Amino acid sequence: MYKYKRITVKIGSNVLTTKEGMLDTARMSALVSQMAELHKNGVEIILVSSGAVASGRGELQIDRKLDAVKSRQLFSAVGQVKLVNNYYEMFKSHGINCGQILTMKENFSTRRLYLNQKQCMEVMLEHGVIPIVNENDTVAVTELMFTDNDELSGLIATMMDTEALIILSNIDGIYDGDPTDPSSSVIRSISDETEDLSSYIQTKKSSFGRGGMMTKCNIARKVAHEGITVIIANGRRENILQSLLDDKSDTVCTVFEASKHELSSIKKWIAHSDGYAKGTLLINDKAKERLLSDNAVSLLPIGITGVEGEFEKDDIVRIKDGQGVIIGVGKVSCNSDKAIALAGKKGGKPLVHYDYLYIE
Ligand code: GLU
Repeated sequence: MYKYKRITVKIGSNVLTTKEGMLDTARMSALVSQMAELHKNGVEIILVSSGAVASGRGELQIDRKLDAVKSRQLFSAVGQVKLVNNYYEMFKSHGINCGQILTMKENFSTRRLYLNQKQCMEVMLEHGVIPIVNENDTVAVTELMFTDNDELSGLIATMMDTEALIILSNIDGIYDGDPTDPSSSVIRSISDETEDLSSYIQTKKSSFGRGGMMTKCNIARKVAHEGITVIIANGRRENILQSLLDDKSDTVCTVFEASKHELSSIKKWIAHSDGYAKGTLLINDKAKERLLSDNAVSLLPIGITGVEGEFEKDDIVRIKDGQGVIIGVGKVSCNSDKAIALAGKKGGKPLVHYDYLYIE
Protein backbone atom coordinates (compact mmCIF):
# COMPACT_ATOMS: atom_id res chain seq x y z
CA MET A 1 0.00 0.00 0.00
CA TYR A 2 2.75 2.45 0.92
CA LYS A 3 5.94 2.61 -1.08
CA TYR A 4 8.41 2.44 1.83
CA LYS A 5 8.62 -0.10 4.64
CA ARG A 6 11.06 1.80 6.86
CA ILE A 7 11.42 5.57 7.03
CA THR A 8 13.05 8.27 9.12
CA VAL A 9 10.84 11.31 9.65
CA LYS A 10 12.49 14.51 10.81
CA ILE A 11 10.21 17.22 12.16
CA GLY A 12 11.74 20.66 12.50
CA SER A 13 11.11 23.13 15.31
CA ASN A 14 9.30 25.47 12.91
CA VAL A 15 6.68 22.83 12.15
CA LEU A 16 6.01 22.23 15.84
CA THR A 17 6.05 25.80 17.06
CA THR A 18 3.39 28.48 16.83
CA LYS A 19 4.23 32.05 15.77
CA GLU A 20 4.37 32.95 19.45
CA GLY A 21 6.99 30.28 20.07
CA MET A 22 4.67 27.84 21.89
CA LEU A 23 4.45 24.11 21.15
CA ASP A 24 1.83 23.66 18.43
CA THR A 25 0.05 20.62 19.87
CA ALA A 26 -2.65 20.64 17.17
CA ARG A 27 -0.02 20.29 14.42
CA MET A 28 1.85 17.72 16.46
CA SER A 29 -1.27 15.66 17.00
CA ALA A 30 -2.08 15.76 13.26
CA LEU A 31 1.41 14.46 12.45
CA VAL A 32 1.15 11.75 15.12
CA SER A 33 -2.17 10.61 13.59
CA GLN A 34 -0.49 10.36 10.18
CA MET A 35 2.42 8.38 11.62
CA ALA A 36 0.00 6.14 13.51
CA GLU A 37 -1.82 5.36 10.27
CA LEU A 38 1.46 4.47 8.53
CA HIS A 39 2.54 2.39 11.52
CA LYS A 40 -0.71 0.44 11.48
CA ASN A 41 -0.08 -0.33 7.83
CA GLY A 42 3.30 -1.86 8.55
CA VAL A 43 5.61 1.11 7.95
CA GLU A 44 8.45 1.25 10.49
CA ILE A 45 9.10 4.84 11.58
CA ILE A 46 11.99 6.44 13.37
CA LEU A 47 11.08 9.96 14.37
CA VAL A 48 13.74 12.64 14.79
CA SER A 49 11.98 15.52 16.47
CA SER A 50 13.27 18.98 17.23
CA GLY A 51 11.32 21.37 19.37
CA ALA A 52 12.83 20.81 22.82
CA VAL A 53 14.44 24.23 23.08
CA ALA A 54 11.42 25.94 21.54
CA SER A 55 8.95 24.24 23.90
CA GLY A 56 11.11 24.97 26.95
CA ARG A 57 11.33 28.61 25.96
CA GLY A 58 7.55 28.78 25.91
CA GLU A 59 7.34 27.37 29.46
CA LEU A 60 9.75 29.54 31.40
CA GLN A 61 9.92 33.18 32.27
CA ILE A 62 13.56 34.15 32.58
CA ASP A 63 13.97 37.35 34.53
CA ARG A 64 17.69 37.84 34.13
CA LYS A 65 19.90 37.52 31.11
CA LEU A 66 21.28 34.02 30.72
CA ASP A 67 24.04 33.31 28.23
CA ALA A 68 23.14 31.35 25.09
CA VAL A 69 24.61 28.04 26.27
CA LYS A 70 22.94 28.06 29.69
CA SER A 71 19.59 29.13 28.33
CA ARG A 72 19.71 26.35 25.71
CA GLN A 73 20.51 23.83 28.45
CA LEU A 74 17.70 25.09 30.64
CA PHE A 75 15.10 25.31 27.87
CA SER A 76 15.97 21.92 26.42
CA ALA A 77 15.91 20.18 29.81
CA VAL A 78 12.38 21.45 30.45
CA GLY A 79 11.23 21.37 26.83
CA GLN A 80 12.32 17.80 26.05
CA VAL A 81 10.15 16.46 28.88
CA LYS A 82 7.18 18.40 27.60
CA LEU A 83 7.80 17.38 23.99
CA VAL A 84 8.14 13.68 24.69
CA ASN A 85 5.29 13.69 27.17
CA ASN A 86 3.03 15.06 24.43
CA TYR A 87 4.24 12.47 21.93
CA TYR A 88 3.75 9.72 24.51
CA GLU A 89 0.12 10.67 25.19
CA MET A 90 -0.66 11.24 21.53
CA PHE A 91 0.80 7.93 20.31
CA LYS A 92 -0.84 6.16 23.26
CA SER A 93 -4.23 7.42 22.15
CA HIS A 94 -3.63 5.43 18.93
CA GLY A 95 -2.53 2.39 20.96
CA ILE A 96 1.13 2.86 19.96
CA ASN A 97 4.15 2.97 22.25
CA CYS A 98 7.02 5.35 21.69
CA GLY A 99 10.37 5.70 23.43
CA GLN A 100 13.01 8.38 23.74
CA ILE A 101 16.59 8.29 22.46
CA LEU A 102 18.78 11.26 23.33
CA THR A 103 22.08 11.20 21.57
CA MET A 104 25.10 13.30 20.65
CA LYS A 105 27.99 13.47 18.20
CA GLU A 106 30.29 11.39 20.38
CA ASN A 107 27.93 8.44 20.06
CA PHE A 108 28.67 8.25 16.34
CA SER A 109 32.43 8.40 16.69
CA THR A 110 33.09 4.90 17.97
CA ARG A 111 31.68 1.83 16.37
CA ARG A 112 30.64 0.39 19.74
CA LEU A 113 28.42 3.29 20.74
CA TYR A 114 27.11 3.44 17.18
CA LEU A 115 26.09 -0.21 17.28
CA ASN A 116 24.60 0.16 20.78
CA GLN A 117 22.31 2.92 19.55
CA LYS A 118 21.39 0.93 16.46
CA GLN A 119 20.60 -2.14 18.54
CA CYS A 120 18.38 -0.12 20.86
CA MET A 121 16.36 1.28 17.98
CA GLU A 122 16.15 -2.10 16.22
CA VAL A 123 14.75 -3.76 19.34
CA MET A 124 12.24 -0.92 19.73
CA LEU A 125 11.07 -1.35 16.13
CA GLU A 126 10.84 -5.11 16.54
CA HIS A 127 8.46 -4.50 19.43
CA GLY A 128 6.35 -1.98 17.56
CA VAL A 129 7.76 0.97 19.54
CA ILE A 130 8.44 4.23 17.70
CA PRO A 131 11.89 5.64 18.59
CA ILE A 132 11.82 9.42 19.06
CA VAL A 133 15.31 10.80 18.66
CA ASN A 134 16.70 14.19 19.58
CA GLU A 135 20.10 15.56 20.38
CA ASN A 136 20.90 15.62 24.08
CA ASP A 137 20.85 19.41 24.11
CA THR A 138 21.55 19.59 27.84
CA VAL A 139 25.06 18.16 27.41
CA ALA A 140 25.86 18.66 23.73
CA VAL A 141 26.91 22.28 23.76
CA THR A 142 29.24 24.38 21.58
CA GLU A 143 31.65 22.27 19.51
CA LEU A 144 30.05 19.01 20.68
CA MET A 145 26.82 19.89 18.90
CA PHE A 146 25.51 18.57 15.59
CA THR A 147 25.11 21.35 13.03
CA ASP A 148 21.39 20.79 13.50
CA ASN A 149 18.83 18.00 13.61
CA ASP A 150 18.99 17.63 9.82
CA GLU A 151 22.52 16.32 10.26
CA LEU A 152 21.34 14.02 13.05
CA SER A 153 18.46 12.72 10.95
CA GLY A 154 20.87 11.89 8.11
CA LEU A 155 22.99 9.84 10.48
CA ILE A 156 19.96 8.03 11.86
CA ALA A 157 18.56 7.27 8.39
CA THR A 158 21.89 5.78 7.36
CA MET A 159 22.44 3.91 10.60
CA MET A 160 18.97 2.35 10.51
CA ASP A 161 19.08 1.61 6.78
CA THR A 162 15.79 3.35 6.15
CA GLU A 163 14.57 3.53 2.57
CA ALA A 164 13.67 7.18 2.86
CA LEU A 165 14.40 10.22 5.00
CA ILE A 166 11.55 12.70 5.09
CA ILE A 167 12.55 16.14 6.33
CA LEU A 168 9.46 18.13 7.30
CA SER A 169 9.91 21.87 7.38
CA ASN A 170 7.56 24.84 7.00
CA ILE A 171 8.27 25.20 3.30
CA ASP A 172 7.28 22.98 0.33
CA GLY A 173 10.83 22.13 -0.74
CA ILE A 174 13.81 23.78 -2.38
CA TYR A 175 12.82 26.65 -4.66
CA ASP A 176 14.59 27.73 -7.81
CA GLY A 177 14.46 31.32 -6.55
CA ASP A 178 13.19 33.34 -3.62
CA PRO A 179 10.32 31.28 -2.10
CA THR A 180 8.30 34.46 -1.54
CA ASP A 181 8.55 35.39 -5.23
CA PRO A 182 5.49 33.96 -7.07
CA SER A 183 7.59 33.27 -10.17
CA SER A 184 9.80 30.75 -8.35
CA SER A 185 8.80 27.13 -8.06
CA VAL A 186 9.83 24.06 -6.11
CA ILE A 187 12.58 21.93 -7.67
CA ARG A 188 10.81 18.56 -7.76
CA SER A 189 13.71 16.20 -8.31
CA ILE A 190 17.44 16.31 -7.65
CA SER A 191 19.84 13.55 -8.64
CA ASP A 192 23.59 12.91 -8.41
CA GLU A 193 23.90 14.67 -11.76
CA THR A 194 22.09 17.87 -10.72
CA GLU A 195 24.43 20.87 -10.74
CA ASP A 196 25.49 22.75 -7.61
CA LEU A 197 22.37 24.10 -5.91
CA SER A 198 23.94 26.80 -3.77
CA SER A 199 22.89 29.64 -6.10
CA TYR A 200 19.21 28.80 -5.53
CA ILE A 201 19.31 28.44 -1.83
CA GLN A 202 18.42 31.03 0.72
CA THR A 203 21.06 31.23 3.41
CA LYS A 204 18.55 32.64 5.89
CA LYS A 205 18.13 30.40 8.96
CA SER A 206 14.76 29.22 10.16
CA SER A 207 13.35 31.26 13.02
CA PHE A 208 13.08 28.61 15.75
CA GLY A 209 15.33 25.77 14.63
CA ARG A 210 19.08 25.78 14.14
CA GLY A 211 19.12 24.55 10.57
CA GLY A 212 18.67 26.27 7.24
CA MET A 213 18.00 25.14 3.66
CA MET A 214 21.71 24.94 2.86
CA THR A 215 22.47 22.31 5.51
CA LYS A 216 19.29 20.42 4.57
CA CYS A 217 20.45 20.33 1.00
CA ASN A 218 24.00 19.22 1.81
CA ILE A 219 22.80 16.48 4.13
CA ALA A 220 20.16 15.40 1.64
CA ARG A 221 22.70 15.03 -1.17
CA LYS A 222 25.06 13.03 1.01
CA VAL A 223 22.35 10.68 2.27
CA ALA A 224 20.88 10.21 -1.23
CA HIS A 225 24.37 9.41 -2.48
CA GLU A 226 24.39 6.54 0.00
CA GLY A 227 21.28 5.03 -1.55
CA ILE A 228 18.50 6.57 0.57
CA THR A 229 15.73 8.71 -0.97
CA VAL A 230 15.50 12.08 0.79
CA ILE A 231 12.36 14.20 0.63
CA ILE A 232 12.04 17.78 1.82
CA ALA A 233 8.38 18.65 2.28
CA ASN A 234 6.01 20.92 4.16
CA GLY A 235 4.97 19.47 7.53
CA ARG A 236 2.07 21.89 7.75
CA ARG A 237 0.26 20.40 4.76
CA GLU A 238 -2.70 18.11 5.44
CA ASN A 239 -1.81 14.40 5.40
CA ILE A 240 1.61 15.14 4.03
CA LEU A 241 3.16 11.84 5.16
CA GLN A 242 0.45 9.70 3.61
CA SER A 243 0.68 11.50 0.31
CA LEU A 244 4.49 11.26 0.21
CA LEU A 245 4.30 7.52 0.68
CA ASP A 246 1.50 7.07 -1.80
CA ASP A 247 2.81 6.12 -5.24
CA LYS A 248 0.00 7.82 -7.08
CA SER A 249 0.02 11.23 -5.43
CA ASP A 250 1.87 14.19 -6.87
CA THR A 251 2.58 16.20 -3.71
CA VAL A 252 4.73 19.28 -4.07
CA CYS A 253 8.11 18.50 -2.49
CA THR A 254 11.77 18.11 -3.40
CA VAL A 255 12.96 14.55 -3.86
CA PHE A 256 16.66 13.73 -3.79
CA GLU A 257 16.82 10.55 -5.83
CA ALA A 258 18.69 7.69 -4.16
CA SER A 259 21.91 6.90 -5.93
CA LYS A 260 22.06 3.37 -7.31
CA HIS A 261 25.40 2.41 -5.80
CA GLU A 262 24.96 0.88 -2.35
CA LEU A 263 27.63 1.32 0.33
CA SER A 264 28.15 -1.39 2.94
CA SER A 265 26.84 -0.40 6.36
CA ILE A 266 30.35 -0.02 7.74
CA LYS A 267 31.28 2.31 4.90
CA LYS A 268 28.13 4.32 5.54
CA TRP A 269 29.16 4.80 9.13
CA ILE A 270 32.66 5.84 8.10
CA ALA A 271 31.36 8.15 5.38
CA HIS A 272 29.32 9.99 7.98
CA SER A 273 32.06 10.15 10.57
CA ASP A 274 34.41 12.66 8.98
CA GLY A 275 33.19 15.35 11.35
CA TYR A 276 34.28 13.26 14.32
CA ALA A 277 37.73 12.18 13.09
CA LYS A 278 40.30 12.07 15.87
CA GLY A 279 43.40 12.65 13.73
CA THR A 280 44.87 12.77 10.26
CA LEU A 281 47.11 10.58 8.12
CA LEU A 282 49.07 12.54 5.52
CA ILE A 283 49.83 10.58 2.37
CA ASN A 284 52.20 10.88 -0.58
CA ASP A 285 51.20 11.32 -4.24
CA LYS A 286 51.67 7.67 -5.09
CA ALA A 287 49.31 6.53 -2.33
CA LYS A 288 46.83 9.21 -3.37
CA GLU A 289 46.87 8.01 -6.96
CA ARG A 290 46.25 4.44 -5.82
CA LEU A 291 43.42 5.40 -3.48
CA LEU A 292 41.71 7.47 -6.16
CA SER A 293 41.95 4.71 -8.77
CA ASP A 294 38.94 2.48 -9.28
CA ASN A 295 40.65 -0.46 -7.61
CA ALA A 296 39.90 -1.57 -4.08
CA VAL A 297 43.13 -0.67 -2.28
CA SER A 298 44.09 -0.28 1.37
CA LEU A 299 46.33 2.44 2.79
CA LEU A 300 49.76 0.96 3.57
CA PRO A 301 52.43 2.39 5.93
CA ILE A 302 54.71 3.21 2.98
CA GLY A 303 52.22 5.79 1.68
CA ILE A 304 52.15 7.77 4.94
CA THR A 305 54.24 10.94 5.18
CA GLY A 306 52.96 12.25 8.50
CA VAL A 307 50.51 11.80 11.35
CA GLU A 308 48.52 14.55 13.06
CA GLY A 309 46.54 14.39 16.29
CA GLU A 310 46.27 11.62 18.85
CA PHE A 311 44.11 8.62 18.21
CA GLU A 312 43.53 5.07 19.36
CA LYS A 313 43.22 1.89 17.31
CA ASP A 314 39.79 1.76 15.55
CA ASP A 315 39.25 5.53 15.75
CA ILE A 316 38.20 7.43 12.65
CA VAL A 317 40.98 9.41 10.94
CA ARG A 318 41.03 11.78 8.00
CA ILE A 319 43.31 11.09 5.06
CA LYS A 320 44.90 14.15 3.47
CA ASP A 321 47.23 14.61 0.52
CA GLY A 322 50.44 16.69 0.48
CA GLN A 323 48.43 19.86 -0.20
CA GLY A 324 46.22 19.26 2.83
CA VAL A 325 43.20 18.27 0.74
CA ILE A 326 40.98 15.64 2.38
CA ILE A 327 40.89 12.50 0.25
CA GLY A 328 38.78 10.37 2.53
CA VAL A 329 38.20 8.94 5.99
CA GLY A 330 38.81 5.54 7.48
CA LYS A 331 39.06 3.42 10.59
CA VAL A 332 42.71 3.19 11.60
CA SER A 333 44.25 -0.13 12.63
CA CYS A 334 46.69 1.22 15.27
CA ASN A 335 47.15 4.17 17.62
CA SER A 336 48.88 7.42 16.64
CA ASP A 337 52.25 6.53 18.25
CA LYS A 338 52.43 3.31 16.27
CA ALA A 339 51.32 5.10 13.10
CA ILE A 340 54.20 7.58 13.53
CA ALA A 341 56.62 4.70 13.98
CA LEU A 342 55.33 2.89 10.88
CA ALA A 343 55.01 5.92 8.56
CA GLY A 344 57.00 5.52 5.35
CA LYS A 345 58.06 1.94 6.15
CA LYS A 346 57.80 -0.85 3.60
CA GLY A 347 55.56 -3.86 4.28
CA GLY A 348 53.36 -4.34 7.31
CA LYS A 349 49.58 -4.41 7.71
CA PRO A 350 47.47 -1.66 6.13
CA LEU A 351 46.94 1.35 8.40
CA VAL A 352 43.46 1.61 6.93
CA HIS A 353 42.01 -1.51 5.36
CA TYR A 354 39.92 -1.10 2.22
CA ASP A 355 36.79 -2.37 4.01
CA TYR A 356 37.08 0.53 6.45
CA LEU A 357 38.02 3.21 3.97
CA TYR A 358 35.74 5.80 2.42
CA ILE A 359 37.19 7.91 -0.37
CA GLU A 360 35.28 11.17 -0.94
N1 GLU B 1 17.70 19.71 19.26
C1 GLU B 1 17.09 21.01 19.11
C2 GLU B 1 15.75 21.05 19.80
O1 GLU B 1 15.13 20.02 20.01
C3 GLU B 1 16.83 21.39 17.67
C4 GLU B 1 18.02 21.53 16.79
C5 GLU B 1 17.59 22.04 15.40
O2 GLU B 1 16.85 23.01 15.34
O3 GLU B 1 17.97 21.47 14.40
O4 GLU B 1 15.27 22.09 20.13
